Amino acid sequence: MITGKNYIGNKLSAKGSKTYTTFNPQLNKENEFSFVEATPEEIDQAVLQAKNAYAEFKEVSGKRKAEFLNAIADGILALDDSLVKTYCSETGLPEGRAMGERGRTVGQLRSFAELVKEGSWVEASIDSAIPNRTPAPKPDLRKLLIPLGPVVVFGASNFPLAYSTAGGDTAAALAAGCPVIVKSHPMHAGTGELVASAIVKAAEKTNMPNGVFSNLNSSGIEVGVALVQHPSVKAVGFTGSIRGGRALFDLASQREEPIPVFAEMGSVNPVVILPDAVQNRGAALANTYAGSITLGTGQFCTNPGLLLGIKGEALTSFIKNLSDAIIKIEPSCMLHPNIIGAYESNRRKAVAQKGLQVVADYQSDVQTNYARQTVSTVEGKTFLENTTLHQEVFGPYSIVVQCEDVDQLEQIISKLEGQLTGTIIADDSELSRYPRIVSALQNRVGRLIYNGVPTGVEVCPSMHHGGPYPSSTDSRFTAVGIHSIKRWVRPMSYQDWPDSQLPDALKDSNPLGIIRLVNNGLTSDKL
Ligand code: NAP
Repeated sequence: MITGKNYIGNKLSAKGSKTYTTFNPQLNKENEFSFVEATPEEIDQAVLQAKNAYAEFKEVSGKRKAEFLNAIADGILALDDSLVKTYCSETGLPEGRAMGERGRTVGQLRSFAELVKEGSWVEASIDSAIPNRTPAPKPDLRKLLIPLGPVVVFGASNFPLAYSTAGGDTAAALAAGCPVIVKSHPMHAGTGELVASAIVKAAEKTNMPNGVFSNLNSSGIEVGVALVQHPSVKAVGFTGSIRGGRALFDLASQREEPIPVFAEMGSVNPVVILPDAVQNRGAALANTYAGSITLGTGQFCTNPGLLLGIKGEALTSFIKNLSDAIIKIEPSCMLHPNIIGAYESNRRKAVAQKGLQVVADYQSDVQTNYARQTVSTVEGKTFLENTTLHQEVFGPYSIVVQCEDVDQLEQIISKLEGQLTGTIIADDSELSRYPRIVSALQNRVGRLIYNGVPTGVEVCPSMHHGGPYPSSTDSRFTAVGIHSIKRWVRPMSYQDWPDSQLPDALKDSNPLGIIRLVNNGLTSDKL
């Protein structure tokens, strides 16, 4: 049931007077529930409860954390229709997408449950003492990863389930042993509260300390700012705009004790179409890319916003085919009037740039909050000179850059800001002939894709979802997959520590049976 209140630990709370509603973009009207924004006092309570919970939660075994994570997944599934309906009414996204995203969210929670139940993720390493080493004896050293402390997670507008309340950041932080305070995204506060209720029930059912999770409502930046500045918060997870992510990153570094902000932000996801590929299968590629650019109304961080090719007849014909194909796709709804407002104004700004030619622009009437897909094209030289054209237009928009030659293509790639992904479309014998292009692209991105589309992010250990700034604030960490747990931990060494007082992961007898690096060799044996 949606109450519109905050969860401060396991208790519902609504002390504030500032309220807001969510919006149904399909019906173009406000939803019925009203949400009460968290007050400074409630923010403080949530963080202090998280701080207290941390003392106990960081010691909870992997097996028990797995029970907690699986209970959250079960609780989300048990919300059933009410969750799917609320999700659709707050996003304008179809039921199929809601179910798919729910499946992904549950899958993420369960994969972290498996990870922590098995236990080797703590990267335990042991270097035995050599007391008679000369000239100085070697001490016994043992290291593992430990949780950072309370983590604040900002819900993402474009993934109300998989990157919000119980999404990847929350699942990873809880798995690591960090209590989580979610700053609920105002556009889907009802979806957020339903999921929060499942987390709170799961915490109670599995006897987790009160305060291990809180969910705070907010409709402006104040709650988020107060959370990031709170001295007891130790790290932040964010998915959204470069402006928002950067503002939080700056706030966090200005604190007396700076803390890490793992922000996954904008990206135009360059796609390089090499000459043989565009010559031999330009028409098929055009259809594929018309679908990828408009998928989810272009509201994916991996949306292909920039296509790069070498000028010529084949590229001209690809542009024509892409324009014809994309214009036939029925426009779809964006998440919120603010998001479509931003799309319209960013698109207007992009197409008003000198030298830019719009080649596909959906002209027919569309329903309110539906986005008109657009493709534009520009010469390589113009693109190089005007960095406004390099910026993300969040929505179904893409620009095709016609480069003079391979040198200019390489120059353009090298000038791009950091990106989540880079795609190369090539015929089989072609890729090996462009090592400089591959190398330039590798320098700018976190994931290289061959002959595919960037949309669709597989959740698995080998996925890296992150990249050089500004696609993320720390290119060393992924926001997707089990390795994202590493954002919420720090290494800790014990020197000559008594065996009985060591964490189980580091004890001689290896009671957890985990894989450890012992004297430079991986083993699950006892010492
Ligand atoms: P956003 O503006 O970045 O906001 C995300 C969250 O951060 C919101 O909860 C917002 O709080 C908070 N926030 C933003 N600026 C802040 C600041 N200066 N201080 C404290 N908190 C701040 O993203 P959005 O609302 O999801 O969408 C807006 C635009 O972001 C979109 O139109 C799109 O351009 C971009 N976006 C990009 C991606 C991507 O993956 N590339 C994903 C989502 C959005 P309040 O809402 O409460 O103010």
